[in-house]
Amino acid sequence: MIPAAFEYHRAQSVDDAIDALGRDEDARLLAGGHSLIPAMKLRIARPSLLVDVGRLDELRYVRDDGDRIAIGALTRHAQLVRDSVLESACPVVARTAELVGDPQVRHRGTIGGSVAHADPASDLPTVLLALDAEFVARGPDGERAIASSSFFTGPFATALGPREVLTEIRVPRVERGVYLKHSRRAQDWATVGVAAAVVDGVTQLAFAGMGGTALRARGVEEALASGADAGRAAARSGEGTEPPSDIVGGSEYRAHLAQVYVRRALDQL
Ligand code: FAD
Repeated sequence: MIPAAFEYHRAQSVDDAIDALGRDEDARLLAGGHSLIPAMKLRIARPSLLVDVGRLDELRYVRDDGDRIAIGALTRHAQLVRDSVLESACPVVARTAELVGDPQVRHRGTIGGSVAHADPASDLPTVLLALDAEFVARGPDGERAIASSSFFTGPFATALGPREVLTEIRVPRVERGVYLKHSRRAQDWATVGVAAAVVDGVTQLAFAGMGGTALRARGVEEALASGADAGRAAARSGEGTEPPSDIVGGSEYRAHLAQVYVRRALDQL
């Protein structure tokens, strides 16, 4: 349970972090450390340099930008839970942050770390995908915005380049949204999670735990668009998914949960 040896650099700014990432090809950013440090202790991750962005307060904010809400990547889950802008403009993000792990995890873990870590069972990436969120990355070549639909490229893999820092997450104003999570114990990751939201009048859904990345529930969305009721739409939950089998549950069990939770999410919406 002791990580392999590594160098440590505390970044003074985003640009300093980008520079430091360029000095070592095995460098990794450290934000809240609640995914990376456990992986290092298990020696699944062995970065030779940790670039600590965890104290960059400039990336800790929630801002109302009119039709979008901008969230700094280093905003901690606990801050999202009690943020008044989110509460009125996009409450599903705040209510989802409340379901992440336990109080200790929520007080250290960050939304940017959660997105960049890209665990297919994690909660906030699933909600952000359902919301069609946009991710802003800054690197040596400047800044770019990446659509959530093309951001998650595989299990624990994203479209971020090796020297890019995720700086901001942008979500639309959405009054009606819900995230439901089935887990064995209150603080666990989702066995299956379902996010549903009405974005610009269209009902959009995404799954956690139903494949190698957070996934849009395209079959359900199509059914709803063509006028199906919640029950008939939920019956199409399995389309485009590859639910894993593991110690927590088999793929058939997950497929069943997805259908039940889609139905519940649509009823609540
Ligand atoms: P870190 O661990 O610091 O980093 C994670 C990865 O993201 C690293 O590869 C790092 O290099 C990269 N990274 C971090 N910030 C950036 C950035 N700004 N730009 C680019 N790359 C970056 N999550 C859930 O969704 N649901 C749960 O129920 C849940 N339960 C948990 C229970 C426990 C006991 C623990 C330890 C964690 C749990 N988590 C859960 C994960 C938690 O949400 C983490 O906080 C989150 O996944 C990672 O955020 P972090 O800030 O700690 O990132």
